[in-house]
Amino acid sequence: MPDEKCVSLTHQSVKFTHRRKIIHRNAVSKFSESSKSRIPILKSRSILSFLLHAFVIDFCARLTTLSDPMAEPKENPLMEKIVSLCKRRGFIFQSSEIYGGINGFWDYGPLGAELKRNVKELWWHAMTRQRDDVAGLEATIIMSPQIWKASGHVDTFADLMVDCPSCKKRYRADQIEPQSGRIYRCEGAEGFPVETSGPTTPIKPFFGLADETKKKKVNYSYAALIPFGKPIESGRQRAKDFFFRRELNSPNPIGERFDEDIKDSIKFCSDPQCGTELSTPRPFNLMFKTFVGPVESDDNVAYLRPETAQAIFAQFKNVLETSRQRVPFGIAQVGKAFRNEVTPRNFTFRSREFEQMELEFFIKPDEVIEAIHGSVATLETPDPKSKTPDPQPNWGWQAWHQYWVEERVRFYEGIGLDRSTLGFHVQTPAELAHYARACTDILFKFPFSKKDESGNVAGDELEGIAARSDFDLSQHQRFSGKPMGVFDDELRAAWAKLPKEKQDDLWKRYYDNRKNYLTKSAKPGETVEQISKQATDDANGLAKGQYIPHVIEPSAGVDRLILALIANAYSEITETDDKGKSETRVTMKFHPRVAPFKAGIFPLLKNKPELVKKAQEVRELLRPWMNVFYDEGGSIGKRYARQDEAGTPFCVTIDFDTLGEKPELLDTVTIRYRDDGKQERLKISELLDFLLSKTR
Ligand code: ATP
Repeated sequence: MPDEKCVSLTHQSVKFTHRRKIIHRNAVSKFSESSKSRIPILKSRSILSFLLHAFVIDFCARLTTLSDPMAEPKENPLMEKIVSLCKRRGFIFQSSEIYGGINGFWDYGPLGAELKRNVKELWWHAMTRQRDDVAGLEATIIMSPQIWKASGHVDTFADLMVDCPSCKKRYRADQIEPQSGRIYRCEGAEGFPVETSGPTTPIKPFFGLADETKKKKVNYSYAALIPFGKPIESGRQRAKDFFFRRELNSPNPIGERFDEDIKDSIKFCSDPQCGTELSTPRPFNLMFKTFVGPVESDDNVAYLRPETAQAIFAQFKNVLETSRQRVPFGIAQVGKAFRNEVTPRNFTFRSREFEQMELEFFIKPDEVIEAIHGSVATLETPDPKSKTPDPQPNWGWQAWHQYWVEERVRFYEGIGLDRSTLGFHVQTPAELAHYARACTDILFKFPFSKKDESGNVAGDELEGIAARSDFDLSQHQRFSGKPMGVFDDELRAAWAKLPKEKQDDLWKRYYDNRKNYLTKSAKPGETVEQISKQATDDANGLAKGQYIPHVIEPSAGVDRLILALIANAYSEITETDDKGKSETRVTMKFHPRVAPFKAGIFPLLKNKPELVKKAQEVRELLRPWMNVFYDEGGSIGKRYARQDEAGTPFCVTIDFDTLGEKPELLDTVTIRYRDDGKQERLKISELLDFLLSKTR
């Protein structure tokens, strides 16, 4: 795939075979800005203040090693509240928290696990069980490394990454906040060699007892951007931190100068305490590597899958043969994916371990549709108020793509994400991978989503729906040597009846597409003649009823969807009592379909055995059908509040009327609605049907 190997920093943009976004040139070229103007050299300090300073540096360095260098700045109050609620109520915890956490990994607590399970089940239900044309798959996480060669991940699944040589923060080159200020530079430093290992070595010379003959000079330069308004002298301090962390005790910068003012530069570390010039961007493969078997050699390298999709392509033939499906049909999979993200951030939005829900929907190439049906139908923009149109046999890739975008939006609406909370990004031709025909990202307006110049929030990606042509199956056919094409009787029969000009026209179009793909994906040493021959064979296959299916891929992230649902559900009410004391209560307004618990079941009083017995009977009645939470502790008001925070849409209270205190209310319960607090009386015999109708 020669054109895909262009991970060069001088290219206009860097495109990869996978779905990751393009890294734009601007984000890279600004790293090569040079700042040449000079200002006078700074005066050096007295030896005592210098040594004292070194002591402070050492102390600070020790502190820095203790704090999490990847910790995110706290800058989004709503996100902070959400993160704190997630921990407090058991939706999401930091992974390995008791050991200080591990960046980019998250655990789902009792409520989060239920929420996640509901979301995955709803997706699975909508995508497979409610359809005749989709089959499921559950593949392994570790697969043959050949799969990742074929897909392009081994060679090109990379982000451009830069490091801060001083504070060791790592950034994705396209995600650095532009900064302005004045540049401090020095050409090296003089100090005492660190005697043992590393920066935490205690400082030898203290209070002027140093042996000056042991001094050492290093001559690699240092630069930092000092934000406007900060004392320019702080550059010297930052340089000292830097040299101290590298190799010098009590470093004293040499050749110091201030360069010109600079605006919106992305060459410097964005930590306001650091500002050090960043390293040159370099590609960083995002796949986690491991070894299969006891020997850690190159022959045993394997990867944790960075997406679930490739297993679907690799098992395409097996599923086709065993499921009795025919193109058009899809294969769906839900499962873990792993990406060694350079900068995991925004809570679970960008994690290193996450889950995906992916569908590969295989369709006939447009030439095949035209051969069978005479023309390729397109789809009017679906009306959100009416049902999505039923798929038609003469749909081409555009209609299928549009159909799946609409289907997916309706799925989100069905679990409580209103269209107004979503956005779309239609990738431009420059953004698309060479084999892709179209890609529409469905976005959600997260609390951290940025505003554009007009103040509008577009949102961040929840799911991408790509028309990926026949690239994936073709790649696996080429790399595995196993045929990935299908045989279609209808095509063979239709082809034989086509006029010669029509056959020639379709043959030529199919040939051109295949040749285009084969050229762009050529293996080293493959000749033009070989490629033309292969494309000719492929096009000749049409007459025999053979072709390689194209694919439409709706690919969603479970964790991003969970975060979207949590952010969407979060609502606060502040109430002030008679004494003027105000209290803020949180209600998680989850759609009943995704809510972790569907109902809270409460006996009015826990010390009345008849009430408790009846409430437990109600719990047992509902339990086989849905997740319910039985709670007898505290006042009813407190119990409601607890369930509101958990997002439970209904609470059922068993009181004395249930037991027949008012005979006409015997065997009825009070049902209370989470979102408006309304209450009504319902017969226990009607309760199950009522709750099922609201929560399914
Ligand atoms: P992004 O541009 O945000 O990195 P992507 O385009 O690389 O995403 P895809 O490769 O298309 O993402 O993956 C499909 C879906 O998987 C995404 O829409 C997203 O919901 C989810 N996903 C991808 N990377 C991550 C991640 N690091 N953490 C959580 N979810 C992710």
